[in-house]
Amino acid sequence: MSNSTPYTRFQTTLHKVLKKLKLEDGQNTLFDLPQFVHKENISIKKDDGKEERYHAFRVQYNNARGPFKGGIRFHEDADEDEVKALAALMAIKTSVVNIPFGGAKGGVQVNPKNLSSSEVQQVSRAYVQAFSENLGPDIDCPAPDLNTNADIMAWMRDEYEKITKTYSPAMITGKPLSFGGSIGRDTATARGAFFIIQEMVDRLALDPGDMKVVVQGFGNAGSHMAQLLHQAGYIVIAVSDSRGGIYIPEGLDPIRIDKYKHKTGSVKGEYCTESVCDVDRMKLDNVQEVTNEELLELECDILIPAALDNVLTKDNASRIKAKYILELANGPTTPEADVIFEKMGTRVIPDVLANAGGVTVSYFEWSQGRSGEQWTKNQVDERLKRVMLDAYKAVRREARREHMTYREAAFSVGIKRMIDAMKVRGWI
Ligand code: NAD
Repeated sequence: MSNSTPYTRFQTTLHKVLKKLKLEDGQNTLFDLPQFVHKENISIKKDDGKEERYHAFRVQYNNARGPFKGGIRFHEDADEDEVKALAALMAIKTSVVNIPFGGAKGGVQVNPKNLSSSEVQQVSRAYVQAFSENLGPDIDCPAPDLNTNADIMAWMRDEYEKITKTYSPAMITGKPLSFGGSIGRDTATARGAFFIIQEMVDRLALDPGDMKVVVQGFGNAGSHMAQLLHQAGYIVIAVSDSRGGIYIPEGLDPIRIDKYKHKTGSVKGEYCTESVCDVDRMKLDNVQEVTNEELLELECDILIPAALDNVLTKDNASRIKAKYILELANGPTTPEADVIFEKMGTRVIPDVLANAGGVTVSYFEWSQGRSGEQWTKNQVDERLKRVMLDAYKAVRREARREHMTYREAAFSVGIKRMIDAMKVRGWI
C-alpha cells in the first residue's frame, strides 16, 4: 500500500512536468503551496437542541488567471490535504480550458446523510458566514462537489447576499435554474467529455459501433456519460455504483438502467433486491453481476472511472485491458499506475481535461450572472464544444511536441498559462 496522499500525488505529476519545462530559477517553487489556506470551525444547533461543530476549509491555490473557483464538499473524510490537492487540480483545469479563473476548493468534515435538511441548511449558511470575506464573484466563486447540490448553492448565495447586502448571482455556480443557474450545467461534465471522445474516435477513424465502454460510477457524471455514448451508438457493456455493477457483453441500455436506479437506488435494481438477484432472469438477458474491482478489468475499448479517486493503482494497472481511459472522476489514477499505462501504451485522457466541462459551464453560469443574460441550450452546448475541443487540441499538440503523456501535457499547458499570467502581473 502506498502512503501517498492526494496532495503528494498531485506534486508527483507537478514536479515531473516542472522538470521537463526547465523553468527559470524560483519559478518551480511557485506551485508547491496554495496561496491561502482558510480554516474555521463552524457550528450548528441540531434539531435536538445540541450544538455540533465541524472543521471547514477553503483552500485558494492560485488566482493569477482570475477569481478562485472550485467546489465545496461535505464529507466526513474531507481534510486539508485532499482539499489542497483538489484546489491545485482546479487551477490546472481552469487553465487547460482557458477560462478566466484560478483554482480553489472547499470542504466541511461532515456527513450530511446524518443531518436533517434544516441542519444541512445551517451548515451551508455557517460555511458562508465563516468565509464570506474570502468569497465573492470577483474573489472566489464556489460550486457543488461531493454531497453538495443546487439547494445548498441557493442557501449559500442567499446567505452571502444577506451578509454583503448585494445582489450577487455570480458569487456561486451550480444554482437551481429558478435562482440563477445555467441550462446545461447538470449534463456539462459528461457532455464535455463526450465531445473529446467523439473527436478522438473521429481522428482515429474508429467506428463508435465497434467501441465497447465500461463506466464506473452511475451518478451525475457517469450516468449522463453512459447515456450520451449509448445514444451515439457506442456499446456500453458495464456500469456500476457503490453497490456493485452489471455487465452485459452485447451492450446494455443506460437509459433503462437510470430509470431502475431512480426507482430502486441501484444500477442492478432491475434484477436484484438488496443481495438477492433473480438469477433466471439474469441468465435469460445474459446479465452478469460484477464487483467494482472486476468491472475495471473487463475487456473493453474505453474505461471511464466516474466515481472515486485512487481506483487505478500499481496493484491493478497491468490488468486493465482498456485502450483508452477517460477520467471523469478526479484523481482516479495514481502516478505509479500512470507509469504502467504509459509502458502499456494505454492512452489516459486526464481529469484536468476530461471532466473540465463542468467548470466550463460554471463559467458560463458566472458570466450569465454578471451580465444578466440567459443562454439557450444550443448556446451552452456550442460554446462548451468549442472550449473542450480547443483544450483537447492544445493538450494533444503539447504531448506531441514535448514527448509527454496527456496528463503531463495538460499540466504543462496549464502551468505555462499560469506562469504567463503571473509574469504579466509582475509576480515573477
Ligand atoms: P455523484 O455523487 O453524483 O455520483 C457518484 C457515483 O459513484 C454514484 O453512482 C455512487 O454510487 C458511485 N460510487 C460511490 N462509491 C463507489 C464505489 N466504491 N465504486 C463504484 N461507484 C461508487 O458524483 P458525480 O458528480 O457524478 O461525481 C463523480 C466523480 O466525478 C467525482 O470524482 C467528482 O469529483 C467528479 N466530477 C464531477 C463533476 C460534476 O459536474 N458532477 C465535475 C468534475 C468532476
